[in-house]
Amino acid sequence: MNFESFNLHPHIESGVRAIGYTEPTPIQIQAIPPILQNKDVMAQAQTGTGKTAAFVLPILQRLIDGPRKRIRALIIAPTRELAEQTHEAIGHLGRYTKLKSVTIYGGVNQNLQIRKLQSGADIVVACPGRLIDLMDKGIVDLKRIEVLVLDEADRMFDMGFLPDVQNILKRLPVERQTLLFSATMPDDVRNLAESVLRNPVAVQVGDAAPISTVSHAIYPVDPHLKAPLLMKILDSTDTASVLVFTRTKDRATRLARQMKRSGFLVTSLQGDLPQNKRQEALDGFRNGKYQVLVATDIAARGIDVSKISHVINYDMPDTVDAYTHRIGRTGRATRTGDAFTFVTRPDRAFVWTIENVLGEKLERRILPNFDYTIPAPVTSKGSGHFPTSRKRPGSTRVVRDTSERNDRSSMPASRPTSGARRGRKDLSQFPFPAGSPQMKSRRSHGMR
Ligand code: AMP
Repeated sequence: MNFESFNLHPHIESGVRAIGYTEPTPIQIQAIPPILQNKDVMAQAQTGTGKTAAFVLPILQRLIDGPRKRIRALIIAPTRELAEQTHEAIGHLGRYTKLKSVTIYGGVNQNLQIRKLQSGADIVVACPGRLIDLMDKGIVDLKRIEVLVLDEADRMFDMGFLPDVQNILKRLPVERQTLLFSATMPDDVRNLAESVLRNPVAVQVGDAAPISTVSHAIYPVDPHLKAPLLMKILDSTDTASVLVFTRTKDRATRLARQMKRSGFLVTSLQGDLPQNKRQEALDGFRNGKYQVLVATDIAARGIDVSKISHVINYDMPDTVDAYTHRIGRTGRATRTGDAFTFVTRPDRAFVWTIENVLGEKLERRILPNFDYTIPAPVTSKGSGHFPTSRKRPGSTRVVRDTSERNDRSSMPASRPTSGARRGRKDLSQFPFPAGSPQMKSRRSHGMR
């Protein structure tokens, strides 16, 4: 099946092509046709399944004709991260439609949101609290809403947003299409669905648990050993296509360069690349010319994930949502995948957060035959030499590790010489010293 079979407007199809989707995911196959037929839909799908495009594409199709600059679609999301992600998806998929979406959420100054609303929006992606504030002030007019999406409804319940959602629902036109997406369908979500959906078509993909086909593991490592560890893992693991995430554009470029010198079939993708280079990287990754793609979060959006066997968080993501978003790129549908995360000491607390959210402890791995005791370079510029030269088949170059060179964020130039020379601690306990928080909940989060 391909996207053409949905008969979307050519401008929307162009957006789909530009973002790089080649075939619809199962939730898209199931949900898009009934939504296009103006039916209410109750969809059970977790993050990583492509659920956002499953409702965004039909919304674009509906709005592409008709009046502009009046709010005709409202998407309610529990968190601002999700709201931003959805807004971005609309921006990418709808780039040729000229439809405009605006995000509304609390925790930030409302003036910019108000200005954007006043300059005219077709779609609003909102968290409930701020939306109600702006409705109360008469700034948001939802009288012309044709489609309402309740995204991650179960999480909305968990976060206590039900009264707010009901408050908003009361102020919307009764004649509208309503779509409810939720990773799980507990009774309270079903009850809500029954009260707001009319003869809904029910669709479901995947489990209601964290993506079961993905196995997560963390690799404790000192910052200066990340690059050699990564290459050693790739050397000793059966990998097909590997997506590596770095925190910055610069790190993506330099890591890819270094890996290339070591003989890996690797390319990088980051926001500063011109479009033709990005496309070349994506196409090459998709068709197997490159086995490894090193990318930043933003640049990696929209990658066709169907063949990715491993996602490696070379740098820890900033939020749990970002973590689940990244690892949602592997293990899709029936495929299995591995998600490895490099964890340095400052990342420890965040690992606990992820574990709490996932409701499971992540396996810690120490790579056998890897020398974790190599000291950090001692020069102020961090001329990180990687003492063990290595070659890969087809490579004639002796490799030196320079990936962290000049990277003060990951390899502190101020690391004291004595510390660098000090014997390494036992990494098997790191990053989970005694007394680390216990798992509290089985609830999963963006990962569902
Ligand atoms: P979501 O479940 O909506 O958060 O989507 C997870 C990721 O899958 C996002 O990065 C989407 O850009 C990506 N995605 C959605 N649909 C497709 C598709 N048909 N092909 C490839 N990637 C997709």
